[in-house]
Amino acid sequence: MGWLGRAALALAVMAGPAAAEAPARVEAEGSRIADRGWSGGIEVELALSRAVPWRVFTLDEPPRLVVDFRGLDWTGVEAEALLEAANAIGVSFGAMQAGWSRLVVALGGPAVVAEAGMQVDEGTGAARLRLRLDPTDEASFAARSGAPADEGWAPPAPEPAPPPPEDRFVVAIDPGHGGIDPGAEREGLREAHLMLALGQELAAALGRAGIEAVLTREADVFVPLQDRVTLARAGSADVLISLHADALEEDSASGASVYTLTDEAVGEASRRMVERHGSGDLIAGLDLTGQDDAVATALMDLARLDTAPASLRLAETLARELGRAGAPVNGHALRQAQLAVLNAADFPSVLLEAGFLSDAGDRARLSRPEGRAPIVRGIVAALRAWSEAEAQRAGLLRR
Ligand SMILES: [Zn+2]
Repeated sequence: MGWLGRAALALAVMAGPAAAEAPARVEAEGSRIADRGWSGGIEVELALSRAVPWRVFTLDEPPRLVVDFRGLDWTGVEAEALLEAANAIGVSFGAMQAGWSRLVVALGGPAVVAEAGMQVDEGTGAARLRLRLDPTDEASFAARSGAPADEGWAPPAPEPAPPPPEDRFVVAIDPGHGGIDPGAEREGLREAHLMLALGQELAAALGRAGIEAVLTREADVFVPLQDRVTLARAGSADVLISLHADALEEDSASGASVYTLTDEAVGEASRRMVERHGSGDLIAGLDLTGQDDAVATALMDLARLDTAPASLRLAETLARELGRAGAPVNGHALRQAQLAVLNAADFPSVLLEAGFLSDAGDRARLSRPEGRAPIVRGIVAALRAWSEAEAQRAGLLRR
C-alpha cells in the first residue's frame, strides 16, 4: 500500500489499468464526505472497486469542489448517505459524458484542496480516493478556482448531423436533465429517465408520421443547456421541444403546461421554474463565471421577432391537441419564463411540462408507456397542425 499521489495542488491525474475490465464502481460502504471538526474543512473519502484516472479542482460563484473520473459507476450510492459534513451543503454525482463521471460538492464557504491522493491495495486492486479541504479566504479561493484547460477531459463538442433535404420538417426533441442532473425525483421515479423514455417514444411516433426527429440526448448523460440548443441547430431543427415533468413543493399542480420564452420577470411560478432549470449546469459543476453575452442577446432579440410569435402559436396548438388526445392539461396551460433552453433565435422553441411528478395521477401516467401515449399523440398532432399552419402563413406573407 502506498500513496500514489499526495499533493497540495488542484490537479492530479493517475493512469488506470487497461479498459477491458468491468467498469469501476463506487462502494457506498466506506465512502463519505465528512466534517473536519473545529478547523471547518471537509474530508472526502471514496472507496472504489479499482483505480481510475481522476482530477480535482474548485469552482467559484458559488464555491464548489469538482472531482472528475474516467468511467466509474455510481449506481447504488445515495447522496444523503454520503454527506456527513455540515459545511458541505449539497452533493451530486453521476455520468457527465460517455466515459466519464463527476462528483460535485457544494461548499458552504471558500476552501482549498490541501491534500489529494489515491491509494491502491496491491492485493485486491481496490482504491481509496482521499481529499482534504482547508478553509481559506475569498480572494485566494477565487485565485485558485477554475476548470483546468485539459483536452483529455473536455466533453466532446456536439457532432453536427448531415443537413437534411431542404423540404424536410425536423423536430428537435430535448429530454430534460440527465446524468449528474436527475431533475425531479419522487417515489423512485426520476424526471430525467421518464423524459428520455417520452422523448424516444415521441421520436418513434414522429418517424411513423413522416416527420424527422433529432434527440439532444439518447442516454442518461448530462448535456449542458447551451449544447442542447447547439445540437438542435446542428440537426437543422425547424423547432425544438424540451420535455420536463417537475415536482412542486408548494402547490398541487397537475396536467400539462407549455412554456415559451419571455425576457420579462413574470410571476412566482415562473421564477421557481427558472430556478429549477437554471441550476442544472451549476449542479453539474460547469464554470459559468465570466459569461457575458449581452451583445449576442441584443442581436438575437431581432431574430426573435419572427420566432417568438411562432413559438407562442405552437404552445397554443400543443395545449389544444394534448387535450383532444386525452392528456390532462393544466388549468393555466400557457406560461412564460426566462429559460435558457428556449434561447435560440433562429427556430421556435417551447418547453412542455408534460405533467408533475408531485401529482399522483400524473406520476402514474408518466411512468408507463400507455400513460404517456396520449401525450405522444397530442404532440404529434400539434406539430403537424402547427407546421401546416406556419407553412400556409409563410405562403400568405410571401404573396
Ligand atoms: Zn425539469
